[in-house]
Amino acid sequence: MTSTDTAATVVSGIQPSGTLHIGNYFGALRQHLRLHTQQEAFYFIVNYHALTTVRDAEALERYSLDVALDYLALGFNPDEAALFLQSDVPAVTELAWILLCLTPVSHLEKGVSYKDKVAQGIPANAGLLTYPILQAADILIYRKEGAGLLVPVGKDQKQHIEMTRDVAARFNQAFCPEEEPLFPLPEPLILDDVAVVPGVDGRKMSKSYGNTIEIFDEGKRLKKTVMGIITDSTPLEEPKDPEADNVFALIKLFADDAKREEIAAAYRAGGYGYGHAKKELLGLITDYFAEARERRKNLAERPDFVRDVLRDGAARANARTNEVMAAVRERVGLVTLKNSYAQLSRRHQMLQRAHSILKRRSGQLFQELEKRKSPGVIYQTPTDVTGISRIGIQKKSIPISKLSPIRKDSYINKGRQSKIIGLKRNRPYTSALNERRAKNKEDS
Ligand code: ADP
Repeated sequence: MTSTDTAATVVSGIQPSGTLHIGNYFGALRQHLRLHTQQEAFYFIVNYHALTTVRDAEALERYSLDVALDYLALGFNPDEAALFLQSDVPAVTELAWILLCLTPVSHLEKGVSYKDKVAQGIPANAGLLTYPILQAADILIYRKEGAGLLVPVGKDQKQHIEMTRDVAARFNQAFCPEEEPLFPLPEPLILDDVAVVPGVDGRKMSKSYGNTIEIFDEGKRLKKTVMGIITDSTPLEEPKDPEADNVFALIKLFADDAKREEIAAAYRAGGYGYGHAKKELLGLITDYFAEARERRKNLAERPDFVRDVLRDGAARANARTNEVMAAVRERVGLVTLKNSYAQLSRRHQMLQRAHSILKRRSGQLFQELEKRKSPGVIYQTPTDVTGISRIGIQKKSIPISKLSPIRKDSYINKGRQSKIIGLKRNRPYTSALNERRAKNKEDS
């Protein structure tokens, strides 16, 4: 399977254990953004995973919403794919438990990322050890009949995807007839040229190592970080090998071919110091994210919109995971009773999704109404028996006779009383309303 396998569902997660950095961007996010408009995609902010290291509730919440802001600012379109918080899809932890019961402890202990983190002084809690299986659940739970699973990640995740394939095969073998495996074996999508982006200290750039260059950093802070990149001590006038230098490894990510060649030639010629290269890199980073930086500032003023996107994404994800979990439960022999908690929560999620679609749609209608020259009204019908209500825009002004006598903010629409949630009046309408108000005042 390759990135051209358009039938595959794209699945990927990112930890809110700190602020996103350019390793995350080039290793994963850029591929996420490219793919999400081309094929079905689920992207999640893995806050359960972040709990393996983060011990500050306020920070975890802030980082989680920040990741969503970053995605939107960098071009994620919520109409095209789902972006959500992992903790809003509780079925993932249920599947993780089932998969853990199929995983030998010795496999987990061989985890490179686990061993690396412990070597860096991160406490070896059981969450850190079992992390790859929660990740496997995160991926496998979005399986769809007849589709593969494609996981765009950096090279550090290669072993985890192998563990996911392994546990998927174990599940199929233990619980499915040979010709009817439930889970496909996911394929990683790892781009060689951005497989491991180095941090300012030369190790893999990672939130866990405190060696990052943040995507949305700017000004003095960004300058301080870039100027702090560790290099060797070759004197300015001497020739240097660009391929052996950390700063050049980062320049390569941002510069076009001509610029890259020009800088590489300057390294080789001598008389070009690391300070020059760092200044070049600073300019490249600043320009590369300039537009996204502006968009992020605007989005930061609309926290409700960001929360709505996450809510809507979670509803889409839950619709899929509930379906998959029903199949998993059946295969492994977990009894699901009618009207049990799992079934009721499915209905609750459906209503939540309807609510968030309504909220988004009303935002669009408000903008539409604002632009109109003529008057109009946005109305919302009462909820029907299934708990769903509709929203629409009526193009003409409403005759006073249609205004409900009970509430000034409601009117009769096709024989039903609807709530007015937005109004653009014309002058006669406004003056008629004012007259009526004045008369009411006199009468009272
Ligand atoms: P971090 O190590 O910073 O906590 P995550 O574990 O949240 O990063 O990884 C999110 C995605 O970003 C993963 O797909 C991972 O492979 C990718 N990624 C993280 N760091 C790098 C890096 N330095 N180079 C390339 N890709 C990376």
